[in-house]
Amino acid sequence: MKKNAKMKKPVAVEKSLSQKIYDRLNDCRYDVEYDYDRDSSGCQCYDYCRCSRIVNAKIISINIENIILDITDFTNNKILKYCIDRILSIGDINNLSNWEVNICNGYYGEEANGVSLDRNIINNICQKIDEIEKLSDIDKIKKVLEEEYGYLLDVIKPMTSAKIEVIKTSEINFPNDVYVKKLDIKRIDRYKDYLFPRGIVLKNGTNLRLIDGYHRLTSAKKNNIENIEVIILE
Ligand SMILES: [Zn+2]
Repeated sequence: MKKNAKMKKPVAVEKSLSQKIYDRLNDCRYDVEYDYDRDSSGCQCYDYCRCSRIVNAKIISINIENIILDITDFTNNKILKYCIDRILSIGDINNLSNWEVNICNGYYGEEANGVSLDRNIINNICQKIDEIEKLSDIDKIKKVLEEEYGYLLDVIKPMTSAKIEVIKTSEINFPNDVYVKKLDIKRIDRYKDYLFPRGIVLKNGTNLRLIDGYHRLTSAKKNNIENIEVIILE
């Protein structure tokens, strides 16, 4: 090998999507509110106490919407945004019991330092996003549906395209009205200002069949949102 071969100037490598998401999920200290008590029983410190311990650390709230907003902002592909949002939801990041207050030692006793989402959950989310990012839009949707429901409906398998369309909310009917009656009101309320396509719709001629997004679509109907973005499969 030539010793003095022209060296390529090192180019700053841009972080991959999943790396950016990994970093963001590992840095949620500004999105959280928590509370704890301090226990310095048995303290014999002179002057300042250096031995107090944090007890009863409790997360009060986490601004999940803000986290999702930041993470989906890493891409412009709306279908990918939708998939990322679904993967975060499947990963159950809304569940506060998957989070923990970080406690570390300081010179004046234990200190609380932000929160952490379960490491396995973060790794899982990033791995799935890595896989999905490489797929075509239709395969992204197929993969995410498989992740959410454990299998793919036969009717979806032959679909070859996924695209975003704006349709009238009234154009879609719920194929399963029994299920609609069982929907979780809290989730419906949370989806009022949902930022991503509200669901996945199968188009067969003029018939629009809702595949995924019952809560999100119910929320649009309930809040009289006239037009919505959906992902149409054909
Ligand atoms: Zn002390």
